[in-house]
Amino acid sequence: MSDKKEFVKELTNMDEDFASWYTDIILKAELVDYAPVKGFMVIRPYGYAIWENIQSVLDKKFKETGHTNAYFPLLIPESLLNKEKEHVEGFAPEVAWVTHGGSNELGERLCIRPTSETIISTMYSKWVKSYRDLPVLINQWANVVRWEKTTRPFLRTAEFLWQEGHTLHETSNEAEEETIRMLNIYADVFENYLAIPVIKGRKSDKEKFAGAVATYTIEAMMHDGKALQSGTSHFFGDGFAKAFDIKYQGRDGKEAYPFQTSWGVSTRSIGGIIMTHGDERGLKLPPRIAPIQVVIVPFAQHKDGVLDKVEEIRKTLSANYRVEADIRDYQTPGYKCNHWELRGVPVRVEIGPKDIEQGQCILFRRDTCEKEIVSLDNIEKRVGELLEEIQANMLEMARQNRINKTKTAHNLDEYLKIFEEADGFVKMMWCGERNCEDKLKELTSATIRCIPFEEEHLGDTCCVCGKAAKHMVYTGKQY
Ligand SMILES: [Zn+2]
Repeated sequence: MSDKKEFVKELTNMDEDFASWYTDIILKAELVDYAPVKGFMVIRPYGYAIWENIQSVLDKKFKETGHTNAYFPLLIPESLLNKEKEHVEGFAPEVAWVTHGGSNELGERLCIRPTSETIISTMYSKWVKSYRDLPVLINQWANVVRWEKTTRPFLRTAEFLWQEGHTLHETSNEAEEETIRMLNIYADVFENYLAIPVIKGRKSDKEKFAGAVATYTIEAMMHDGKALQSGTSHFFGDGFAKAFDIKYQGRDGKEAYPFQTSWGVSTRSIGGIIMTHGDERGLKLPPRIAPIQVVIVPFAQHKDGVLDKVEEIRKTLSANYRVEADIRDYQTPGYKCNHWELRGVPVRVEIGPKDIEQGQCILFRRDTCEKEIVSLDNIEKRVGELLEEIQANMLEMARQNRINKTKTAHNLDEYLKIFEEADGFVKMMWCGERNCEDKLKELTSATIRCIPFEEEHLGDTCCVCGKAAKHMVYTGKQY
C-alpha cells in the first residue's frame, strides 16, 4: 500500500493544476518526450502504439468509403503557396522555410508543408482532364510543421502527425456530401473508439480554415471544461480549383472546375483521450484503442505454479485481446499495479497461489477502479464483457462531464457569470455578426466553437447585442 501512495504523489493533483497534471501523465506514462528542438515532440513507443490503433480504425473507414492513400512531398515551392490568397495569409505566419540545399542558396524558398492543399491541387491539375476522372478520393498520412509560439505535446506542437484527405467532385452537392460524410466518420471514431462524445457543427466565418467556403468540426469537452477541436472537414467550393487551374471537360463538352474538400485528424486526438478520461491515478485508455487491453500481474510469482498459470492465462486471452504479463522479478506486485494504472490499461488480472488453489483470479477495471473475483473457467468470457462495459462506461462518464459543464446564457451578464465560476460550454443565441463574436473573446477568451447541426431555440435575441438572433452556438475556451 505504501508503494501506491508514494507513486500517486508524483502526479500533480488534477483539480489544482490540470496543465501540470497533463505534463506529468505524458512524461511518466512514457507517451512522449521533449525533443532537442523547442516545440517538437518525440512520440515514444507506447504513445505511438495508441496512434497506430487510431490510424488503423480511420484508415479502414476511409477505404470502406472509396478512398485510397498516396504520398506527396514534404517541401512546397513558395510560388505554389502564394497562389491562393486567403490560404497563404492564414498560414504564412507559421511556415518554416528551407532556404539552402547543402551550402547553395536556393533560387526559390521551399516551405515545409503546414498542410498540403497547394501541392496536391498542383498535381490534380495535371491528372484531371475529363469528368470521367472524377471523383478523386485521395488521403495522405503524413507529418506537417507549423511554427507555433506556444506548444504543448499532442495538443499544439511544431510538428505533428495526421491524415489529410483531399477530394475533387463534379458537383458542389457531391463535395458537400463528402465533407459531411467524413465529419460523420470522425464523430463515429471519436465516440465509439476513443469514447469521446463530440458536438458536430459548422465553424463561424472567423474560425474557418484559410481559403475554405465552410469548415465543419467536431468539438469535444475535456475534463477541465475546455474545448478541443478534434477533427475538421472543409468545403472549398471551386476556389482552389480556379487558383490552381484544375480544369476538366464536363459531360456537356464544356470546360469546368471541380469542387474540392479536405479533412484531417491528427495526433492531437491522443491529447484528447488523456484530458477526457485521465484521473488522479493517471491515464485511462478506452479498450478499443488501448495498446495493451489486459495486463496480468502475478502475486508471489516465485511460488510453484504461479508463472505457469500466468502463462496459461496469457495464452488463452491473447487469442482475442492485446495482453501482456508483467513477470519482472525485480518489481513488487504493488509497483506493477501502479505502473499499469498510470498507463491506463483497461483490465488487470491479479493472481497468486491462493487464487490458483481456489480456481479463481481478481479482475481490476481501470475506469471505476473496482475489483471482482472471477472463476478461471470463465475468465475469457468475463474479460470480453468487461472490456465492452468499460468502453461504454467511459463514453458515458465523458458525456456526463459534458452535461454537467454545459450551461445556457440568455444575456451577456449571465454569460460572464458562468465563466467566472467555471470553464465549460455555454450555449447561446448569436446574431451572426463578427463584432459580437470578437467581444465574447475579448471578455472571456472563450470563442464560438461551432454552430451545431442540431440547433436549439434558446430565445429570439443575440446574447451579446440583443438584436435578432440567427443561430444557436456553443462557446468555450479552447486548447
Ligand atoms: Zn449580436
